[in-house]
Amino acid sequence: MTTHSETELTQDELARYRRQLILPEIGPEGQQRIKKAKVLVIGAGGIGSPLLLYLAAAGIGHISIYDHDVLDLTNMNRQIIHDSGNVGVPKVQSAEQTLNRLNPGLHYELHAERLTRETALSIVPQYDIVVNAVDNLDTRYMLNDVCVELRKPLVEGSIFHFEGQVMLISPDEDSACYRCVYPEPQEPPKKQEFGVIGVTPGIVGTLQAAEVLKYVAGTGRSLKNRMIYFDLLSASFREIELKPDPDCPVCSKLKQQPVLL
Ligand SMILES: [Zn+2]
Repeated sequence: MTTHSETELTQDELARYRRQLILPEIGPEGQQRIKKAKVLVIGAGGIGSPLLLYLAAAGIGHISIYDHDVLDLTNMNRQIIHDSGNVGVPKVQSAEQTLNRLNPGLHYELHAERLTRETALSIVPQYDIVVNAVDNLDTRYMLNDVCVELRKPLVEGSIFHFEGQVMLISPDEDSACYRCVYPEPQEPPKKQEFGVIGVTPGIVGTLQAAEVLKYVAGTGRSLKNRMIYFDLLSASFREIELKPDPDCPVCSKLKQQPVLL
């Protein structure tokens, strides 16, 4: 249980977060909620980089990171949380070095392993919100299914070439899930290399960080049942309305069950 004194803001924190504390939508109460929040981030790559940086900068108290990869030189055009000197180092470790320099007062939990469905089912309940920053479809669909089953909010984001998209899968009964939008994987599940400039995952991760902060602070209008889609080549952003699919194989069945509180 978190006690009142653990969430009270110190003088240092009042200074560090001053520019967001003076926002009426956040204020000291919102900042305290940010401080006691536990966020699970899957992926410390191109999307995870800005996401983790902004979550840490904003003061999310507990950030857990899963990534099984080691840093490669070909990652460096987009994975801006990492230092070139860390090529060959596990990404979670490399990311933690940067995060500790950025905001040393937070708790970072590192897992240099691939998140399996079994592990996800056991750990997801410990967190307030989950963020998907992965680049493979297997994990993307697995995370959607687990978060829907456990009724945990999930911020979903993905890129393809110059395009990106972000949505929030809310535990509310009237929320569309990822499978409502894309029932089956659209690409072959094997990992194929495709071209990307760093800005594309940068925008996706940044939008996801904003969704997390809004959710945790309890402010604003979320991306539930909406998708932000952008194409940087034509410099266009669109909002796409989403609807839950009454025949969705994952969320439609669960929605017929009563919520156990
Ligand atoms: Zn669904």
